[in-house]
Amino acid sequence: MGNKYVYSFSEGSKEMKNLLGGKGSNLAEMTNIGLPVPPGFTISTDACTRFYEEGEKLWPELIEEIHSHLEEVEKTLGKRFSDESNPLLVSVRSGAVFSMPGMMDTILNLGLNDKSVVGLINSTGNERFAYDSYRRFIQMFSDIAMGIPKRRFDSEMEALKHKKGVELDTELDAEDLKGLVESFKKIYKEEKGQPFPQDPIDQLQLAIEAVFSSWNNPRAVIYRRLHDIPSNLGTAVNVQSMVYGNMGDTSGTGVAFTRNPANGENKIYGEFLMNAQGEDVVAGIRTPKAISELEDIMPEVFEEFAKVTEILESHYKDMQDIEFTIEKGKLFMLQTRTGKRTAHAAINVAVDLVKDGIITKEEAILRIEPNQLNQLLHPTFDQKALGEATVIAKGLPASPGAASGKVYFHAKDVVEAKARGEKTLLVRQETSPEDIEGMVGAEGILTARGGMTSHAAVVARGMGKCCVAGCSEIRVDEESKVIKAGELTLHEGDYLSLDGTTGTVYTGEIAKVQPELSGQFGEFMSWVDEVRRMKVRTNADTPRDAAAAVKFGAEGIGLCRTEHMFFDEDRIPAVRRMIVSNNESQRQKALDVLLPLQRKDFYEIYQVMEWRPVTIRLLDPPLHEFLPSKKEDIESLAESMNISFEDLKDTINDLAEVNPMMGHRGCRLAVTYPEIAKMQTRAIIEAALDYKVKDGMEIVPEIMIPLIGDAKELAYVKKQVLEEIEAVFTERNDSIKYLIGTMIEIPRAAITADEIAEEAEFFSFGTNDLTQMGFGFSRDDSGKFLNEYVEKGIFDKSPFEVIDQKGIGKMMEIAVELGRKTRENIKLGICGEHGGEPSSVEFCHRIGLDYVSCSPFRVPIARLAAAQAVLKEKMSIHMDK
Ligand code: PEP
Ligand code: MG
Repeated sequence: MGNKYVYSFSEGSKEMKNLLGGKGSNLAEMTNIGLPVPPGFTISTDACTRFYEEGEKLWPELIEEIHSHLEEVEKTLGKRFSDESNPLLVSVRSGAVFSMPGMMDTILNLGLNDKSVVGLINSTGNERFAYDSYRRFIQMFSDIAMGIPKRRFDSEMEALKHKKGVELDTELDAEDLKGLVESFKKIYKEEKGQPFPQDPIDQLQLAIEAVFSSWNNPRAVIYRRLHDIPSNLGTAVNVQSMVYGNMGDTSGTGVAFTRNPANGENKIYGEFLMNAQGEDVVAGIRTPKAISELEDIMPEVFEEFAKVTEILESHYKDMQDIEFTIEKGKLFMLQTRTGKRTAHAAINVAVDLVKDGIITKEEAILRIEPNQLNQLLHPTFDQKALGEATVIAKGLPASPGAASGKVYFHAKDVVEAKARGEKTLLVRQETSPEDIEGMVGAEGILTARGGMTSHAAVVARGMGKCCVAGCSEIRVDEESKVIKAGELTLHEGDYLSLDGTTGTVYTGEIAKVQPELSGQFGEFMSWVDEVRRMKVRTNADTPRDAAAAVKFGAEGIGLCRTEHMFFDEDRIPAVRRMIVSNNESQRQKALDVLLPLQRKDFYEIYQVMEWRPVTIRLLDPPLHEFLPSKKEDIESLAESMNISFEDLKDTINDLAEVNPMMGHRGCRLAVTYPEIAKMQTRAIIEAALDYKVKDGMEIVPEIMIPLIGDAKELAYVKKQVLEEIEAVFTERNDSIKYLIGTMIEIPRAAITADEIAEEAEFFSFGTNDLTQMGFGFSRDDSGKFLNEYVEKGIFDKSPFEVIDQKGIGKMMEIAVELGRKTRENIKLGICGEHGGEPSSVEFCHRIGLDYVSCSPFRVPIARLAAAQAVLKEKMSIHMDK
């Protein structure tokens, strides 16, 4: 015997999904656990592969195999194809391993011909029903399997209704429909040059070929590409005997979830229609009834149905999405699959299943997709309102959430509008640190340029604020305060809505729903925490962000970007004076103003973090970012410093760099201006001493020196830092524990990490810069072309979103190994944006980092991803054994 390609439902199982497709394997499973499934068989995905090898043709052995399975079905049911008293009719459906819109879906009533239609009349006593089924079959078969335009049949139907002076299909009688069958057959002949196939075997072969061919139709190909589904999987074909929900008042059809997919409530949720066929329930022509009403209409059927849902749930150990039909009072199951659900429902279902002893906590943890938690933490648009909204552009989903407001183009306009009580969106070509107040005040942020690690994206995520970045489909003119999106022009004060989870921009205002953190969420997250090995910290620069992160479970601060503290209105003048000073004493004066402010910042952050570790990074960005660019701002700074406008302008010009990201920034600032690093060190240590004395709390500050490329740079800056710490200890006659470490964000640092670890007590991987420097992709500009890399399949994802494990990750692995070789107990973490991205978190676990650090709203996602990393590791060790 050659290869087996056809499996009757009683031969398959849910484990055979790759061979039988999702639908086929579940039909088999339901059959085998004794549920009422109309008999049928599945032609395997292997057959699909061979179909293409054979030049898109069915081959004789396969046809024979199909015949013998058909005979089996005929025998089981006591029905025969083309029979004039009790004919067999079947449905033909595609069923890939992953459900795939775009492929051929369903042909019903296959087997109808001029003979069997008489048989259907005889077996049902319903002539109208029989001819209606026949004309539907011709139309569906011609359209789906043979590519004849559906409208040809529709217009024939319309013409008939017009002639008869009726409006509804249901007003046509048996004689009308019989006539329509003849007209439909004529259309078929005109289009195909051959009569409509009367032999059910021919019909079946053509339908099977159509399903296999639909695997490679353009829509299916695009869908696969978008969802990373391999093109060599192929689809299966399910052939199943028909049951009818439209055989009168004791028949019906419906769809149901075994639990409520919106909130997870353990109650059957679904809809049905009596005297109706499959599509009628979803087509919206008649209003379906809630499933609970079935109990009143047919109590025994409902009872059986409820029992079936219980069996399915406990068998599949998950909420199921099912389709059923009732034929003359008898229940049949037509499909079951894992039900899609909201994050809220996902958590509730998983926790309930654990409590009922159906799944383990570990299984529950693995069931929740970490990014799905986003839905729970941010407000979202009301689904109905969203359906009616108009999309104007798509950008990068830089920071999740939903925001509507009037557009403003300058931070100060946002601040003023907010003071008037308006809800606003800040729209910029791209944001810079100068825009910070506008970003704080706005409901959301939209930029036309910049990638996932652009200023707008990073800062917005830190604030938990909705942001769509790099939206190159719009043009933003900040001067004339205009947005152009295709034909549309928007002005200041017009409403827009942003969905930061999808990157979509809509016109107008859209209603929102607030997140509801269910009681079970906390319980679920406590299980997550029991499992994970890595700690999860947060990137936070303000007490407010830190507090939000602690609420989400952050166990420390992994990155406090001190530069963000410099942009407050009350300190930017002093910062600017510090930068443009010509000599050290002038600079020191400005630093003296900043010292108490920084000390207060750190003290307040320590208070929020209590005992948790806090990593504070010394000043990192190029200094010119802090300087004013507008004439009036330069004038007022010059005046306050008692210098001429021209002199100041010259200094500002001198500070400008051609390539600032690789310029005078990071530890290079501390090398040239040690007094800045010293002021910051003093503020960090004095605040910790104050915290000890005033609050009786001990915190171990971790001072982080950024952008090291050579151990000697670190040694130099560290010396300055240590001198200042010693000075403070002597002055205060007190001391505390502290750590000094560095970021690994320059490739050279990663590959000389053994030397760097001589000086550093911890490493924190700055994967934003490491990706920038490793790939040579500018983090600020690459958004423009990286989108195309993804679209063209060169990259799956932007490496600024998901760690490039092969290259950038390899450098991290080298640094981990070399670092530990020198200093066994070196603390290792990550604070680049990847620290909150699930697959990157898993990678960090695998290479042995001690913690990940991410923006506050990603903390729960990182906690879950870290726990899943442990469980996946356990599973793969188990499988290797
Ligand atoms: C990084 O480079 O990954 C990092 C965390 O620092 P920043 O984004 O501030 O440059
Ligand atoms: Mg960096």
